[in-house]
Order: sequence, then structure tokens, then C-alpha cells
Amino acid sequence: AAKEGGKAAWTRFEPRMRQDVVNHARLGSELHNAIIRRELFLLYQPVFDIVTGRLHGVEALVRWQHPTRGFVSPGDFIPVAERSGLIVPLGSWVLREACEQLARWHSDHGDGAIKAINVNVAVRQLRESGFVDEVAAVLSETGLLPQNLVLEVTESSVADGRQVRETLHALHEMGVRLALDDFGTGHSSLSLLRAFPVDVLKLDKSFVDGITDGEDRGRLAVAAAVAQLAEYLQLSAVAEGIESEAQLERLRDMGYRLGQGFFMAKPLAADEAGALMSTPASIVA
Ligand code: C2E
Ligand code: MG
Ligand code: MG
Ligand code: MG
Repeated sequence: AAKEGGKAAWTRFEPRMRQDVVNHARLGSELHNAIIRRELFLLYQPVFDIVTGRLHGVEALVRWQHPTRGFVSPGDFIPVAERSGLIVPLGSWVLREACEQLARWHSDHGDGAIKAINVNVAVRQLRESGFVDEVAAVLSETGLLPQNLVLEVTESSVADGRQVRETLHALHEMGVRLALDDFGTGHSSLSLLRAFPVDVLKLDKSFVDGITDGEDRGRLAVAAAVAQLAEYLQLSAVAEGIESEAQLERLRDMGYRLGQGFFMAKPLAADEAGALMSTPASIVA
């Protein structure tokens, strides 16, 4: 909230801010132990081919079950982890866990298994000089190919600087695919899309919401334009946060081939996601 409110908000709400800082510090140190204590786990949200109804892939999403606080939302602890740098070990754990899970699905479900898994990566991870080697090591240790991995990065990561750009190019050279997450919300310029080796555009949920929020013309226009842009640039486009059949149909008409959202499936435990891999068509197409 401080970030959005800018300087004025910091001065005006200082007592509250201080409380926030204290909470964040405590949350940060608890997070530090969370990995060791196995309080973190992953859920997997299906991504569907919205034309055939088939399962296309999954996105790994981290969860934290705190012993006394209960469930802590990633929306709360990921920003804390990013500020403290804890996102680096946390992100390493997520990457390895997700790749191990995909390898298990491959051995359990063979051809029925999804080909690739999506993993969110924070800019702090991309700034680490060893990140490319780490990805290569995890892939080889889990027996996966680079094309089995899609790393989701934000538009601001892409604009971060030379080091991050070089890392992304190296990953792409290796064969790892890159997705631009929350696409349309950042300060991206379209020229970034040409300068940077992106494979997938993930249209942010806010534009999908615009489809049913009184048919908001501005957001509808962005949703439609992103589908076209992806087609022209020969990228794949995923619509995020689909919550209704009306949205699903509209996005399909706009040219989206892939979709993710509570209307089709919430983030699932590994065995639930695995169950979708042994049944052929999974949603109403
Ligand atoms: P994201 O990467 O954009 O992930 C999509 C978020 O939208 C997930 O929230 C998912 O549960 C939610 N979502 C999907 N479909 C719907 C829908 O139909 N309706 C609604 N209301 N929400 C939907 P989640 O799991 O709470 O994660 C929030 C954010 O936290 C993620 O946004 C991502 O930026 C971050 N995050 C989660 N896991 C990781 C991780 O392992 N590493 C990093 N760096 N960030 C992560
Ligand atoms: Mg994501
Ligand atoms: Mg997203
Ligand atoms: Mg999002």
C-alpha cells in the first residue's frame, strides 16, 4: 500500500507503516524457517486448450501453511520474500519441486502427462549470476528437457537491465521457454517483445474481468489486441483468471487458444492435477 500511496502515504500513515514493517520483519524470519520446516508446498493450476478442452499444462503456485497463522497468501509473503532476498532460496526450492513433480507425472502418466510446467520467477532470481547454471542442473538432475520448462517473468523483469536480459537470452538459447506474466499491466513497450525472446503472453486477469464488467471497452480492446499481437508475432497467448463461461466463449472468439481460471479449475494438489492426465478431455469445450 505504501508503494501505491507514494511519499505522502508514508508520512500520513506512519504508525501503521511501522506496524507493517514489524510484521514484515517477523514474517520474513518465519519464512526463513518455512522451507526447512516443510511448511511450503506447491499447488498446480491447470491451463487448458480452450478449443479442444484438453489439459495443456499447469502453473506451479507456492503455498505456505504456517503452524499458527494458518494459510498465508502468496500475495502477502512473495513481496516480503522479494524485499528480503529470501525469494532466491524460496524460488530455488519451487523450481526443483516443480521439476521433480513433472518428472513424476511423466513416469506415472506417460503420453497422457502434460509436456511442460510453468514456474514463476522473480527478478531477484534472474539477477543471480548462477541462475542459468542452476536451471540447467535442475533439469539434468530431474531428467527433464529444457522445453519441458516455461519460466514466467514479468514485464518489469525484462526491462530490469543488461544482466537479466542476458540471463533470459541464455535460458532461451538453452531451449527453456519464457512467458510474460500479467501481460498488459506493466510499463512494457511493444519493442521489448522484439528485443526479448518471449514465447508466451499471459493476458492479465484484469482484462478478462473487463469482459463481464459491463463490457468495459478499454479492457476488451486490450484483450483482443493481445490475441492479435500474439498471432502476428507467432507467440502463444494464455488468458488468465477466467471465471465464467461467458468470458471463456468471448476469449475463444477473440482467438485465445489457451486459458486458465477458476471456471475450469482452481489450483490443485499434485495428485488431483495428475488425475486430469489420465482422463482425455477435461472441460466443456
Ligand atoms: P500469477 O503468477 O499471475 O498467478 C495467477 C494467480 O491468479 C494465482 O494466485 C491463481 O490462484 C490466481 N487465479 C487463477 N485463476 C483465477 C481466477 O479465475 N480467479 C481469481 N480470482 N484468481 C485466479 P496465487 O496463487 O495467489 O498467486 C498470486 C501471485 O503470487 C502469482 O500471480 C505470482 O505472481 C506469485 N507467486 C505464486 N507462486 C509463486 C512462486 O512460486 N514464485 C514467485 N516468484 N511468485 C509466485
Ligand atoms: Mg504466473
Ligand atoms: Mg499471471
Ligand atoms: Mg496475475
